Amino acid sequence: MPAFRAPRGTHDLLPADRAAFARLEAIADDLTDRYGYRQIETPLFEQAAVFERGLGEVTDVVEKELFRIAPRSDEGEIWALRPEPTAGIVRAYVQHGMQTWPQPVKLTMTGPMFRYDRPQAGRYRQFWQFDVEAIGDPGPAIDAEIVELAMRFYAEAGLGEVELLLNSIGDEACRPGYVDELAAYYRRHLDELPQTERARLERSPLRLLDSKDPAMVELNAGAPVITDHLCGLCAEHFAGVRAHLDALGLAYRLEPRLVRGLDYYTRTAFEVYPAGAGGQQSAVGGGGRYDGLVQLLGGRPTPGIGFGIGLDRVLLALDQAGVPKAPEPSPLAVVVSADPAATVERLRIATVLRAEGLRARADLGVRKLGRQIEGAARDGAHFAVIVGDELAAGDVRLKDLQAGTQRTVPLESLTRELRRASASHRHGEKGRG
Ligand code: AMP
Repeated sequence: MPAFRAPRGTHDLLPADRAAFARLEAIADDLTDRYGYRQIETPLFEQAAVFERGLGEVTDVVEKELFRIAPRSDEGEIWALRPEPTAGIVRAYVQHGMQTWPQPVKLTMTGPMFRYDRPQAGRYRQFWQFDVEAIGDPGPAIDAEIVELAMRFYAEAGLGEVELLLNSIGDEACRPGYVDELAAYYRRHLDELPQTERARLERSPLRLLDSKDPAMVELNAGAPVITDHLCGLCAEHFAGVRAHLDALGLAYRLEPRLVRGLDYYTRTAFEVYPAGAGGQQSAVGGGGRYDGLVQLLGGRPTPGIGFGIGLDRVLLALDQAGVPKAPEPSPLAVVVSADPAATVERLRIATVLRAEGLRARADLGVRKLGRQIEGAARDGAHFAVIVGDELAAGDVRLKDLQAGTQRTVPLESLTRELRRASASHRHGEKGRG
């Protein structure tokens, strides 16, 4: 048992997993680029108030899961690690006067989030999100664009079988009346409520609908639904979102009890699950509209919508669906030599190849040629560049490890020869275990 381990609820991404992760990041970058969303990066921590005010004090994320940073006496500010990206991005939107930019401001960010949650499968204390936000457009067309972008990500990642759950949770005009009715319903069933839910009832009845407590499942199935209480404008907006999604041919399931865990959401709310998965732990992403958030964080009233996709969960779901992991890149060539001690030549030639932009490794161990070649093959290298007596005449031997052939090549044309082979090598990349 090693003395030190990664903190509970975190996980190391070893090279094979990191490569699979990098593939998802590349898909995210490519997609957002195509859709015209610009990259932003905000700090991993913010003033805790950004989350307390933005997400809501009576949310799981703030009440139980916020990773607070112990204050240092000289700073007088209380910080927390970001549990989600939207509040920080909106804080940046307000701070940098993005309201004066052409609207909507379309932003994307991928990075680690932190929640001090009870760790379990698929629920980590540090996890990665691919996040997209469009701030400054009331919708409903942009809502559909955002949802479609999210769904395209799963498709391109190879997670074909996912289910989109959609709801509208109203706005400040219609939600209060609904919340009152919901509270009255729960009060009628007070003795069936678990202790924690009872304590929340007076502060935030909506949260009970979102409860993870199994005791709440049956009770929630009978609770009044928001969609019966939407005001005219919210109903019209929701109809608009659905019409745009229908026009794009996107399938969704209306889920009138979907409320999402944070206070800032208004109107459109959605979550995505791998097909057949029911539990809340397995959501691979979610998002929604947050028309009040910019104002909550000190800006002018500005609508916004976004989503966050949990990349760790997407990798888990891909694994469960049996989708093979993206391979790590293998070297095009490994430089080896007949003289086990000739590390200077091996390193020098590999250095030239790498400076020329090729993926090349030198065998730097002092070991026999056969072992060096075995190592090259194990790495999935296409070629071994063998340095031997021919070097005196300016030549090396180029061994094609995949075809099993070998020929002599002048050192000065080695780069050209390898580059020519490199295109076909890319197609033949091998994974390493
Ligand atoms: P949320 O805003 O809580 O809906 O989070 C958005 C997405 O991030 C979820 O759908 C999950 O895919 C992922 N996610 C949220 N919390 C965690 C966690 N503790 N561990 C891993 N992934 C998470």
